[in-house]
Amino acid sequence: MLVWLDSPQAAARGFILIDRDGVVNENRPDYVKNVREFHAYPDALQALALLNRRNISAIIISNQSGINRGLISWDDFWQMHDAMISEVEQSGGKIAAALYCPHRPDELCGCRKPSPDMISAACRLFEIDPRQAIFIGDSITDIEAAANAGCLGIRIRRTDEGSLDVERGSTQVFSNLADAVLGIYP
Ligand SMILES: [Mg+2]
Ligand SMILES: [Zn+2]
Repeated sequence: MLVWLDSPQAAARGFILIDRDGVVNENRPDYVKNVREFHAYPDALQALALLNRRNISAIIISNQSGINRGLISWDDFWQMHDAMISEVEQSGGKIAAALYCPHRPDELCGCRKPSPDMISAACRLFEIDPRQAIFIGDSITDIEAAANAGCLGIRIRRTDEGSLDVERGSTQVFSNLADAVLGIYP
């Protein structure tokens, strides 16, 4: 598990945990591999700016198995990370921390979602009660990770993306991060 922390820590009024690919930026079936392939959604940048204005800190929780699959170099990975941080800051947002799992599924690590470990680690770092925490992601494994961590999972289903799979249970679904943030903090 890789943990990046912003410094210095501002005193936040609250925290929200957010998946990266498919929520903050466009995902791709062959992995978002470098900064040229990293395209933040305008609505996500607006959402992160709104959170910042409300003094709610955003924490990124992201599987990045492309690293250990040999598809993403460490240089490219950190360049993407830096690009995300600066793009978010330029639009008025802020990211307090980012936790990444670099492992492939066959490595059977402890941190890859749907394991709750990255969410749990973020909660410990920032003294967040998982029962009060919200994790927003676009994959079923995000919702499972949230459930495994004992926090509320909220799903993003972008309407600009085609096929829908079956929704389960009572998971709240929003069409993008901006709608989700407005739905959670009206
Ligand atoms: Mg995702
Ligand atoms: Zn891992």
